[in-house]
Amino acid sequence: MLRLLLEGLKRPLTETPPEVSDAAAAELAAALEERARRKLGRSLSIRQVDAGSCNGCELEIHALTNALYDLERFGLHFVASPRHADILLVTGPMTRNMAEALERTWRATPDPKWVVALGDCAADGGLFAGSSACLDGVSAVVPVDLHIPGCPPRPIEILRSLLALFS
Ligand code: SF4
Repeated sequence: MLRLLLEGLKRPLTETPPEVSDAAAAELAAALEERARRKLGRSLSIRQVDAGSCNGCELEIHALTNALYDLERFGLHFVASPRHADILLVTGPMTRNMAEALERTWRATPDPKWVVALGDCAADGGLFAGSSACLDGVSAVVPVDLHIPGCPPRPIEILRSLLALFS
C-alpha cells in the first residue's frame, strides 16, 4: 500500500496535454481576428449556448481560452449576453426544453449575427437523433450559417472552421 502511494506521488495525476502547434493556433486566431476586424470593424464576440449537449463540446470550447490556446490574446471574447455577441455558438442536439430559450437568444442578438452549430449533435441530433426530447439539430429552431462537425471537434478545428465563416 505504501509503495503504491509513493508511486502515485511520483507520477503526474493528470494526463499529459495534447501536442498543440502554438504557431498554427496563433496563426489561425490572428487570421480570424484580422478578418473579423475587416468585416465588423472590431474584435469578435461569441456567445455560447448549450442546447442539451453532453458537455464534451463545451470542454473543447473552454480549451480555446486555456493557457495552451489563449484565444483572448487575439481579441476573441466569449460574452455573457447575446446583446454583446456576433456569433451564437450552439452545442447539443437541440432539446425541446431549450428551443424557446435559443430562439429568444437569437432574437436578442443584434445584426449582423452568425449561428454556428458545433458538434455532430448540433448538426442533426448526433447520438441523440430520434429522441422524443430533441428536435435533431439547431437548424430546427434558428437559421444556421456554419456546422462544425466532430464529436467533439478539437479546438484547432473550431478555430479553422470559424475562420471559414469570414472567408
Ligand atoms: S457532439 Fe459529441 S461531444 Fe458534442 S454534445 Fe454531442 S455527444 Fe457530446
